[in-house]
Amino acid sequence: MKVLKFGGTSMANSDHIQKVVSVLLNQSTTDSLLVVVSAMSGVTDHLLKMAVMAASADESYTKEAELLALQHLTAVRELLPLEQQSSVLSKVKQYCNELEELLDGVYRLKELSARTQDKIVAFGEIISSVILSAKTQSLQMNQQWIDSRSLIITDTQHGNAAVDFSATNEKIQTYFKSHDYKYYIAPGFIASSLAGYTTTLGRGGSDYSAAIYAAALDAEVLEIWTDVSGMMTADPRLVINAKPIAQISYQEAMELSHFGAKIIYPPTIQPVMHKRIPVWLKNTFAPEEHGTLIENYSAASADFIRGISSINSISLLSLEGSGMVGIPGFSKRLFEALANEKINVILITQSSSEHSICVAINESDTLKAKRAIDAAFHIEIISGKVEPLIVETNLSILALVGEQMKSHPGISGKMFGSLGRNGINVRAIAQGSSEKNISAVIASRDVKKAINVLHETFFETTYKQLNIFVAGAGNVGGKLLEQIRQQQTILRDQLHVQIRVIGIANSKKALIDENGIDLDVWQSRLADAPLSSIENYFAIIKDKNLRNSVFVDVTASDVVAGVYESLLTKSISIVACNKIACSSSYPSYQRLKSLAKSYNALFLFETNVGAGLPVIGTLNDLLRSGDQIQKIQAVLSGTLNYVFNHYDTSIPFAEVVRKAQAEGYTEPDPRLDLGGTDVMRKIMILARETGQPLEMQDIINTSFLPSSCFDGTVDDFYEELAKQEAHFQQLYKEAATKNGKLKFIATYENGTAKVGLETVAPESDFYHLYGKDNLVLFHTHRYHQQPLVIKGAGAGAEVTASGVFADIIRVARI
Ligand code: ADP
Ligand code: ASP
Ligand code: MG
Repeated sequence: MKVLKFGGTSMANSDHIQKVVSVLLNQSTTDSLLVVVSAMSGVTDHLLKMAVMAASADESYTKEAELLALQHLTAVRELLPLEQQSSVLSKVKQYCNELEELLDGVYRLKELSARTQDKIVAFGEIISSVILSAKTQSLQMNQQWIDSRSLIITDTQHGNAAVDFSATNEKIQTYFKSHDYKYYIAPGFIASSLAGYTTTLGRGGSDYSAAIYAAALDAEVLEIWTDVSGMMTADPRLVINAKPIAQISYQEAMELSHFGAKIIYPPTIQPVMHKRIPVWLKNTFAPEEHGTLIENYSAASADFIRGISSINSISLLSLEGSGMVGIPGFSKRLFEALANEKINVILITQSSSEHSICVAINESDTLKAKRAIDAAFHIEIISGKVEPLIVETNLSILALVGEQMKSHPGISGKMFGSLGRNGINVRAIAQGSSEKNISAVIASRDVKKAINVLHETFFETTYKQLNIFVAGAGNVGGKLLEQIRQQQTILRDQLHVQIRVIGIANSKKALIDENGIDLDVWQSRLADAPLSSIENYFAIIKDKNLRNSVFVDVTASDVVAGVYESLLTKSISIVACNKIACSSSYPSYQRLKSLAKSYNALFLFETNVGAGLPVIGTLNDLLRSGDQIQKIQAVLSGTLNYVFNHYDTSIPFAEVVRKAQAEGYTEPDPRLDLGGTDVMRKIMILARETGQPLEMQDIINTSFLPSSCFDGTVDDFYEELAKQEAHFQQLYKEAATKNGKLKFIATYENGTAKVGLETVAPESDFYHLYGKDNLVLFHTHRYHQQPLVIKGAGAGAEVTASGVFADIIRVARI
């Protein structure tokens, strides 16, 4: 005997039922086949809905009942030849009439007992199995319909009845001894109490019915046919990269289903495991695929973690109090209180001090549990020995399952490390002493992210995915996206990093695509994207809660800089060329750095100083490797360098500045550059990176601009600059007579920083500095004879974008 179970999706409509029939016809065995079926998909839910409608005096249940009848009648018409339809149609109609009568009764009484509800939902499996039976009959397959209610006997716990195995096994064995058909077709899910009332085995219970039959009959195999090719490493609806598991042990399958893998109803394994009957999970829609074989052992394989599953709608109950320490019987009383209310405990943890016991239960049982436990510990609560039960809701359980994890150290470290790096807070942890699973209670909103994080950690060693959100789609943003586009394949192949740009926003619009934006067409997609405020964009980023998220700020906006703090607290890394955050007050710079540390995110801003030049990275490398900075000297303004490289008194200074502005080398108000503010910000950031709590007002700025230049508008400034030509000629000549050149230099030494115009001699490193190049000299303990020199273009969209890109890759490599 072989037992085959077909789920709701396999029975969903006539097309699918045809597929079921071909699976049956393609079985090569000469043995008998027992076929257990679910209701057509959605029908059980539909029946429950109608029952509740009728009980709450909502007349529209009659319309729903008509729809349900039509669904089944249509399947019959589509499956059977015309001349064979009438008897089956009238049988189905008769069931539908009985159902309506029951619903009418509920409607009149305005009351729905668990017993009546079972009677109502049973029609789903009864009608679907009758239809399959009629179809196989019409194909002259030697078949017999059997009523599971006469063979599977349970207690009277309607909705979730417990099987009386001795009565059941005897009935099943007796029945099959006296019959000899090739095919038996039976409804799953339903059974009856000893008194003969219809009962059901719990939602998803058809799997269990099939296992009960298989165990009673010592079947050669139990095949569970569904809509996926076996048990996957994670729920395929949550993890795109989930892959089928070829072989798994009973224990592992049980753990995965207990912790939420919906593909198999948890009690299913128990009866077949006792008899060592293999369970084969197969796909009705792709029968050629291997599927999953569940057997008595766990085959050794590289994937020693077999799967990850999760259960939503969990509550955590904590019983705490000093009165519990060292006194036996507390946990017994706690579990008894729960058991008396028939509340299922999914996970338990107890602190070793015995100061608290924590249990996870289904959220729907919370109120009942709270009442029962507070009542059971009433005396201790009023005497202050125990606190009233603490309840937390909106939680989920995440479980990592694999029998062989016991022989691999470091699994939990890896698990909690990757959850932590992604800002997922773990509320409780349990690990079975048999080490078949490690489970953690987390907030439900984090489940999808957490499963994907763990899946990546344990099953996708091939590459790491980075989810990028870009703010600013201007010059630098555009260049950055182009560089990412060009480099995407190489990064994936060589560094095993998959960079997906999920969001691109400017001040007016936001484009979001969770599957990754095609960077060939981002401009047009952004143009077509809906209007969105930048605040809305931030909200979406937080709400998406994707793993390995990186926020890239290529704006100069203070609103954007203002959001870093809240993103870091979500463990979203920040890469910024925007200088505002790092040059705000020292406490807020420091706060961002420490938030990044405590939330395991990175806060990187290499391009704040010297655009793409590796200035901050080098400084940090020196410091981390134990070197000491004695002095930093630097030309950090491309603008000032340009201006002084072009001014030789032949054209007026004001004209040179105008030209620099026309070529895009200055801020809209050139005084920000000429006045030295931008250079002050940069040397301050370098000083801060060395650990010095420097503020802007601590920096000495000897401005070469006469103070009159700072008054009025930009036009007034140019006018004043022209009037001051003699002053600039004087500066130039003084330098020229010394055979030197003018450079605007920032210096940091002994905890203080200054910026100002200096005359540099031909032997100075700064003398041969052209165009808009920057130059940084690190005088350190190790580089004491000659400083470490970093020199190159310190401005420009292309190089800035490449510095931002390098920071993004740094995030990928942690
Ligand atoms: P049936 O109607 O055939 O009983 P179910 O809907 O009960 O099917 O179970 C199959 C579904 O289980 C799949 O479609 C899939 O979405 C879901 N599922 C959840 N976790 C897993 C997992 N780990 N492996 C495979 N499927 C899973
Ligand atoms: N039809 C039932 C349900 O939807 C049983 C099953 O499909 O296994 O819960
Ligand atoms: Mg199922």
